[in-house]
Amino acid sequence: MVKPFASSTDLADKPETLEVLADGVYALTAEGDPNVGAVEGKDFVVAIEARATPVMARQWLDQLREHTDKPVRYLVLTHYHAVRVLGAAAFEGATVIGHEQMRALVAERGKEDWESEAGRMPRLFRGAESIPGLTWPHLTFSDRLSIDLGGDRGELQLRYCGRGHTEGDLVAWLPRDRVLFAGDLVEAQAALYTGDAFHADWSGGTLDRLAALAAEQVVGGRGAVARGGAAVTAAIEQTRDFLLVMRDTVGSVHGRGETLREAFASTHAALAPTYGQWPIFEHCLPFNVQRLWDEYDGIERPRIWTAERDREVWDQLQS
Ligand SMILES: [Zn+2]
Repeated sequence: MVKPFASSTDLADKPETLEVLADGVYALTAEGDPNVGAVEGKDFVVAIEARATPVMARQWLDQLREHTDKPVRYLVLTHYHAVRVLGAAAFEGATVIGHEQMRALVAERGKEDWESEAGRMPRLFRGAESIPGLTWPHLTFSDRLSIDLGGDRGELQLRYCGRGHTEGDLVAWLPRDRVLFAGDLVEAQAALYTGDAFHADWSGGTLDRLAALAAEQVVGGRGAVARGGAAVTAAIEQTRDFLLVMRDTVGSVHGRGETLREAFASTHAALAPTYGQWPIFEHCLPFNVQRLWDEYDGIERPRIWTAERDREVWDQLQS
């Protein structure tokens, strides 16, 4: 039996929750769909992530407008993935900020990623006709960039913490309230997508650097907001455990000279008891295992996913 491709049959909208994490600090979560956030400065708003289309971004902005009418001066994008960035046109007049490697990845593979993600997750692309084209950052940085929020609101620090979910992820850290917007580097009770990842860096130094911030709240890429030190540690360590189980399992199968299909079956068996019920688990696993297999084959940078290659890998592993 051939399973329907990826999440292409998963079309029902998820309930959304707007949470106020601190004075002027917001997160919108949607039961495993990509999270977005916002931080109020004295006179302006910094928005974090843009969603997949301007139509969906405007729905988020409408909800934010119930809390503040300050203009959005900056739009921070944690990485290049289409479901995070292609709604940017809704943030008219905002300066779009990304990591310098994010810009390079948009140039190298933005178009392919758009087509791949739209095919994988059509539900997230409501109003796809409103996307005017690729999203390019206006402003990039390599290590750190701080936004002065004005008044007594402190600063929002944008930091690069090493390779991880992609080759160019940033996190947004609000020291005053100890709130961390981690992008897809941390997921809380949602499965990981690692098809463009650097598993060894991510599960080691990159997560160590995030943990060292000692955040009190973490907004991950998907899933609930982790609130309180214990929940934050749990989210970071769950992310690490998911990566380490994958590395152990795929590494062993690869080392024994077995096949990709066997690596997929073993990884599925190893992860499913703990993570099998979490959002996007089945959807992501074939792509995750293929990328990790490539890493063990010595392929340094992730190969570019195209609609055709998605189909090929899916048919080989999930049917
Ligand atoms: Zn992503």
